[in-house]
Amino acid sequence: MSSAIRRPIRNIGILAHIDAGKTSLTERILYVSGRIRAAGDIDEGTTATDYLDVERERGITVKAAAAHLEWSGPGERLRVNLIDTPGHVDFSSEVDRSLRALDGAVLLLCGVAGVQSRTETLFRACRRRGAARLCFVNKMDRRGASFKRAFDDMARMLDPGAVAIAMPWGEGESFRGVVDLVEMRAYALCAEADPSGVGMRPPPLPVPPDILDDAARARAALVEFLASLDEGAGRGGGHSGEGGFAAELLEDFVAGRDSRPEAIRSALRAATIAGRATPTLCGSAFSEASACFLLDAVAAYLPAPDDAFMPEARDPGTGALVASLDSSFSALVFKTVSDPSLGRLSWTRIWSGAASAGEKVLDARTGRSLRISRIFRIQADRIESADRAEAGDIVALSFGGASTSAGGTGATLCDPRKPVLFEEISFDEPVVSIALEPRTRQDIARLREGAAALAEDDPSIRVREDPLTGRVELSGMGELHLEVALDRLRRDYGTQAKAGKPQVSYREVLAGEGFAREDFDRDLGGERARASISIRIRPSARAGGISLVLEGAGKMPASLAAAVRRGVEAALSVGPAACYPLGGVEAVLEEISLPGGLSSPGRTGERAAEIAATLAATKAAAAAGSIVVEPVMRLELALPEDFLGAAAAAISGRGGRIESVEEEAGGRRAIVGAAPLRRLFGFATELRSATEGRAECVARFLRYESVPATAGML
Ligand code: GDP
Ligand code: MG
Repeated sequence: MSSAIRRPIRNIGILAHIDAGKTSLTERILYVSGRIRAAGDIDEGTTATDYLDVERERGITVKAAAAHLEWSGPGERLRVNLIDTPGHVDFSSEVDRSLRALDGAVLLLCGVAGVQSRTETLFRACRRRGAARLCFVNKMDRRGASFKRAFDDMARMLDPGAVAIAMPWGEGESFRGVVDLVEMRAYALCAEADPSGVGMRPPPLPVPPDILDDAARARAALVEFLASLDEGAGRGGGHSGEGGFAAELLEDFVAGRDSRPEAIRSALRAATIAGRATPTLCGSAFSEASACFLLDAVAAYLPAPDDAFMPEARDPGTGALVASLDSSFSALVFKTVSDPSLGRLSWTRIWSGAASAGEKVLDARTGRSLRISRIFRIQADRIESADRAEAGDIVALSFGGASTSAGGTGATLCDPRKPVLFEEISFDEPVVSIALEPRTRQDIARLREGAAALAEDDPSIRVREDPLTGRVELSGMGELHLEVALDRLRRDYGTQAKAGKPQVSYREVLAGEGFAREDFDRDLGGERARASISIRIRPSARAGGISLVLEGAGKMPASLAAAVRRGVEAALSVGPAACYPLGGVEAVLEEISLPGGLSSPGRTGERAAEIAATLAATKAAAAAGSIVVEPVMRLELALPEDFLGAAAAAISGRGGRIESVEEEAGGRRAIVGAAPLRRLFGFATELRSATEGRAECVARFLRYESVPATAGML
């Protein structure tokens, strides 16, 4: 793609283990780019991106908030869309959906703690989604910080592409600044900003003599790393168009001169975009200059939307891959937020083409047509209106007309003349639920409204209501997740509902494969409705949810495919063994026929197809048979050696097993284990008293396992 039409945009997210400094760094970035007047302080509870009350109070970022800022680095003026993502394990699906909107990510490490459990998960998620990466080692000013330790762990354990482009000038209490290895310049971070410079950068200094050797070695390692990428890669293989990453560096080498900064930058940019390199820098979220250098690196190395990896798109009628999205409009809704005054806003990444306010688009998953009523750009909790959005933009859309499930999280929006469908966003399955009992009649309405809004904003929350009693069952990914949801219900919707004890969510998995055919022929509201459908269902490799395969059934309009999908999903929400929802199922539509053909089924044809799909899928599931499974959690504990025995006893006392015990920095031990969630309620409290509060513990969903007969839950 020619650089003449490349839009100067970076869509990025900052990903980190909790407490690595993501919120602080985000604030500093907003501050240096002029978007906020004073950088808020997380410890004071005044930050711009942590905007829900509950988040302020708890000091954790629950919902991703997008910020839109402009940055004039040494090069062109850039627009940066920055998505703040949560660090807590209970909210991991929020991270995956943000990744679906991004082109590049900044992986943030704490300079003291280095690589942590969550860093690993985040790194893998980035790689899976094809997001290019930078790494920033933060808190270099904190006592015990070591850039070398963090960087070596990263390169050894996670990312062989990690390559240092900066090094600290002093560390911990003696931290003074950073050395830019590309330019070979030092910057004192506490110095006054350079009045002639851009943004809030301090003036460049020569590298101090006492660290000159180290810096020269690190720069040589950077050049060597880039040169090594071309070896064995085979010319033309992998990276397209150019004769290897380091062609310009080779020129310098042949000419016998020092590697030029431009040559390093261009090799590093190409390698980063290709996913082969992760440029790594360091600094402190408390310093304006660090935020400037990070933004410069974002500009220099992370992809513009035109450089980035494009997601796969399929034809919604046939399921076939679409070769190119060309200039037709296509976009993915990655999040919705219910705003009290603006209604529901759908946060959307535009992947191709453009759309203006007033235009009609198709929601390819539901087959519904939607009119875009307004387009917004977002700056933390403030919203700015726009007329038009085009490829590469991240915007919030609101739709005219009655509210429907169309345009919700995971929806593909497209040009009705060229329908396409992106891969659905997969959410962690809810594993815990609580029952909420309304206290008064008014409370029933408040609870119903609040729970519906929560589920709409966060698809990993499921809501089930008993219409007779008004009792609502809320399911989520962990105790904290539900606690935060409950807080929101109480504050934002004023419910007084009484909450029951958290319960484990069981589900069913198929015992084998099943097939069924349904010839539906009945009177529906005075019209004869007919549809014949054959469905085969089998266990799928994808752990969560239900995937529907349409290839082979013939070309059909998106609305008919959506009707079949609704029918199959309704059938599989009730398993044959014990009425728990089925998960990990692949349903193949082998045959579908309607009396008038598939091309224009009409409302009656769609209704008939939906019912036939429900009946066929129910019979196929019964034929396959199923077993009940329960969530098993992965436990990660870190604690002083003295408490190893107490912690091990606590884990085995809850039916868990220990998989590994490793030594960590500072003589602490890291335990990895697994235990059924059914036995883990109250575990955090028990562990706290058994270890005098010295243990940290995180539990996250690992997999479903069959329930032992002795568990007595059936
Ligand atoms: P998050 O959980 O990743 O969003 O991290 P926060 O931004 O909330 O920071 C966690 C804690 O680390 C807070 O107490 C911050 O003040 C502190 N912190 C963040 N960045 C730095 C840094 O660069 N240096 C030091 N010394 N502390 C930091
Ligand atoms: Mg935070």
